Amino acid sequence: MSRFLSARFADLEAYVPGEQPQDMQYIKLNTNESPFPPAPAVREAINAVEIDRLNLYPDPEGRALREKLADHYGVKLENIFLANGSDDLLNFFFMTFCDEERPVAYPAVSYGFYPVYASLYRLPHTEVPLREDFRLEPEDYCGIGKNIVIANPNAPTGRAIGVDDIERIVRSNPDHVVMIDEAYIDFGGESCLPLVGKYDNLLVCQTFSKFRSLAGGRLGFAIGSPALIEDLDKIKYSTNSYNINRLTMAAAIATIESHEYYVNNSKRIQSNRTYTVEELEKMGFETLPSKANFVFTRCPKVDGGTLYRKLKARGVLVRHWDKPEIADWCRVTIGSRTQMDAFLERVHEIVKEAE
Ligand SMILES: *Cc1c(COP(=O)(O)O)cnc(C)c1O
Repeated sequence: MSRFLSARFADLEAYVPGEQPQDMQYIKLNTNESPFPPAPAVREAINAVEIDRLNLYPDPEGRALREKLADHYGVKLENIFLANGSDDLLNFFFMTFCDEERPVAYPAVSYGFYPVYASLYRLPHTEVPLREDFRLEPEDYCGIGKNIVIANPNAPTGRAIGVDDIERIVRSNPDHVVMIDEAYIDFGGESCLPLVGKYDNLLVCQTFSKFRSLAGGRLGFAIGSPALIEDLDKIKYSTNSYNINRLTMAAAIATIESHEYYVNNSKRIQSNRTYTVEELEKMGFETLPSKANFVFTRCPKVDGGTLYRKLKARGVLVRHWDKPEIADWCRVTIGSRTQMDAFLERVHEIVKEAE
């Protein structure tokens, strides 16, 4: 820390992203990326048009992309806000809607960025404990009288709640914004987007990083009532009006046009998920039911930290947190069948060693 850092950030603990090793080739099952490359149309879109125009600023409104998204989701242009990844979107949510008078609540075991933003903006925050087996109880949020962020499916557990549950939460907090982070919704969960037209306090957050194989392009978007979008725009135009670059915009349009390709990839991932869970079970692992492109699993014989380290030594990266409630567990991204077989083979060796 320099002596110049603003005193308001002295206690801030920054988010620690999953490892992105640049030196050695790992089988990367630690940050929930897609194992599949972008659709062929994405490559063409970037080669053909946009590189020669990089001397010009992108459209600050991102109109062409927002029109595509509006059409795809059956909403209007004014329901859509674009951000540089959904982390950027979360930042806008906290900055725009939360303060001393409007504190925020989120699950105690969830995406690690929520507490970082709460701390960055010095917000009073409530971490709502999960119930047995990391189940999220919707009742715990009904009438809570705070802004709410819930990842559905939740990370790192993979568990999902239903649209009815979300509706109860949104309806019972009419004077607060409810943000549903649907980063993993396209792997078998049920999106709450149909509720957007009904409630002016619901914001649905999605990303191109997981299902749409575009983590490196950095694109997230929110869908919500025009008034909420207008508020987000106000803050965007006060911080970074050109927050989406040209290449990403072109890639994203081609992505939406290639929807079937991604749906097909998701089906493969879901079948690899079933396979992985079954194989882990044969080795005595306990795995939570997952609607995401990862599973949260623990081995009765090897603690989470040891499993993580031994896998890393064998060239496989998974995610582990030291936090006591989840220290027994590892989160494993579901990749291609070949990747999962390599992972399972190494797990088998590690379990044998522990016997
Ligand atoms: C991966 C993830 C994000 C961030 O996605 P980006 O769009 O890559 O910033 C947001 N929320 C959750 C729950 C995630 O797992």
